[in-house]
Amino acid sequence: MNKHAFQAEVKQILHLVTHSLYSNKEIFLRELISNASDACDKLRFEALDRPELYEDAPALEVRIAVDEAARTITIRDNGIGMSAEEAITHLGTIARSGTREFMAKLEGDQKKDANLIGQFGVGFYSGFIVADRITVESRRAGLAADQGVRWTSEGAGEFDVETIDRPARGTDVILHLREGEDEFLAAWKLRSIVSRYSDHISLPILMRKQSWDEEKKAQVWTDDWETINKAAALWTRAKSDITDAQYQDFYKQISYDSEPALAYTHNRVEGRTEYTQLLYIPGKAPFDLWNRDKRGGVKLYVKRVFIMDDAESLMPVYLRFVKGVIDSSDLPLNVSRELLQESRDVKAIREGSTKRVLSMLESMADSEDAGEREKYARFWKDFGAVLKEGLGEDHANQERLAKLLRFASTHADEGVSFADYVKRMKEGQEAIYYVTADTLVAAKSSPQLEVFRKKGIEVLLLTDRVDEWMLSHLYEFEGHSLQSVAKGAFDLGKLQDEEEKKKSEETATALKPVLERMTAALKERAKDVRTTTRLVDSPACLVVEDGDMSGHLARLLKQAGQSAPSSLPILEINAEHALVRRLADTEDDARFADLAQVLFDQALLAEGGQLENPAAYVQRINRMLVGTV
Ligand code: ADP
Repeated sequence: MNKHAFQAEVKQILHLVTHSLYSNKEIFLRELISNASDACDKLRFEALDRPELYEDAPALEVRIAVDEAARTITIRDNGIGMSAEEAITHLGTIARSGTREFMAKLEGDQKKDANLIGQFGVGFYSGFIVADRITVESRRAGLAADQGVRWTSEGAGEFDVETIDRPARGTDVILHLREGEDEFLAAWKLRSIVSRYSDHISLPILMRKQSWDEEKKAQVWTDDWETINKAAALWTRAKSDITDAQYQDFYKQISYDSEPALAYTHNRVEGRTEYTQLLYIPGKAPFDLWNRDKRGGVKLYVKRVFIMDDAESLMPVYLRFVKGVIDSSDLPLNVSRELLQESRDVKAIREGSTKRVLSMLESMADSEDAGEREKYARFWKDFGAVLKEGLGEDHANQERLAKLLRFASTHADEGVSFADYVKRMKEGQEAIYYVTADTLVAAKSSPQLEVFRKKGIEVLLLTDRVDEWMLSHLYEFEGHSLQSVAKGAFDLGKLQDEEEKKKSEETATALKPVLERMTAALKERAKDVRTTTRLVDSPACLVVEDGDMSGHLARLLKQAGQSAPSSLPILEINAEHALVRRLADTEDDARFADLAQVLFDQALLAEGGQLENPAAYVQRINRMLVGTV
């Protein structure tokens, strides 16, 4: 017998499992049955090329046995099994990354819900919630009977491994129950857990029948085994036979989410490619939503055989939050990841499923029912920023996605759609105006908004990091171009009356010499200096030329460590402002330069930028305050 130490992360998990998980203890059974079922799936998959692996037992199944005297529960499967080396690595280490985040999450959670263990996929260790010792006896399919392994641990720092004789292929997981956990020895208890969590497992799960013993005045086990789960995958059943509660239970099982799904769709698609889809939209964002390469939420089955978790081939990345199952009747069982990526059937499945998800979202967003619209608002709060990625990734559905977008605007703090905006457009308004900034507060106080406020024209306030990227793919909505209030020459077109235009042209001519002096004083920092009518209260603002990158985007790129092509902004000044008039009256060149620099710095600060030389700015302001300028 050989002793081995658990990997440090496993020790941490075990410590938590044995000391802190108190609610939903019964999920250990779901986890171990799910491992057993995975082991059978793996055998079925490997046996496609090597049918001899079935040995003499082709019927795959899971059996649960109870020994009251020994106080053990055994979960037995005749799946792929483990060799000694596999038992050592698979049960002693966690290969997956992200253990630390998971532990932090568990430690922070007051409720200490055992469900979380499944969310991270370390289900085997959940056995230690109810057991103070676990024995695993296993033999890998294809190995000789004397190549069996016995793995034992008390769930602390180490485990023992020895070689045993084991004629039967597959795995026994034997739980030696802790003091006080005897309720799990009761047949009715185990049956009810199985029907609650594992009905959809497509393998039969068997338990021995019980009969009444008059002498002992108790139920005793017989030698008759019976199937205790439905053993029919939920998605293969007719829609009319499935209740909402069953759909939601299934969702919880595959997602480990403790809250119900927001919406789901279940369809059998017929035609050139045939498949069944059961897709769910979660009620809240998972903790790893921003990890674009996490394990997929949609499982692929072929003719009810589990093939793989693979979100990317079955769902576009921007719908990575969708959970569910796709069961194809056309793909070959031995389909590989590479093949999936090229397959026309998979492409058709992905397109079909994407459309389904979009229609689910549309029907919530456009519903007559206020409750449904409220659901959509909740969805948007958690997943809106992810959905926005789709505008660049999925051009075919760009129009549909654009309709699903919701924004804050100068009109309402949330929930504004393009359609709402268009309905409120002023007579003669052609473009949809927006401003981008880091925060809502910064967006709302952008100087560039001033004239829009004055004229009562709505402006969308965009503050998600992904917005700038989205705008580089989305140029218009139903014929109305999207226009930044901080880009290009200010032109409200028909919204500006002739008189205003004339007046601004006159001031521009009058200020020409001042503008030239400013351009010279700021030649290192600004491409040009010009007058504008977009300002009402502020003296100046920065804008960029139409094709140039906005200051906000340049800052985002810089934060992300990417080099942004630098082009200088244009400084626009408000001819009506007292500071600008003072500038016009300043003859001394040094003072003039000081004032011009201050105007520029303030405009930069106002749009959330950072000064390159804050000390110089402070000195200039101080010179002005003490009156030497
Ligand atoms: P996960 O199942 O998410 O990988 P677990 O901690 O539940 O994580 O299991 C760890 C590994 O142990 C599995 O990936 C599998 O390789 C192996 N394993 C667990 N149970 C069985 C079983 N009944 N038969 C074969 N292998 C198993």
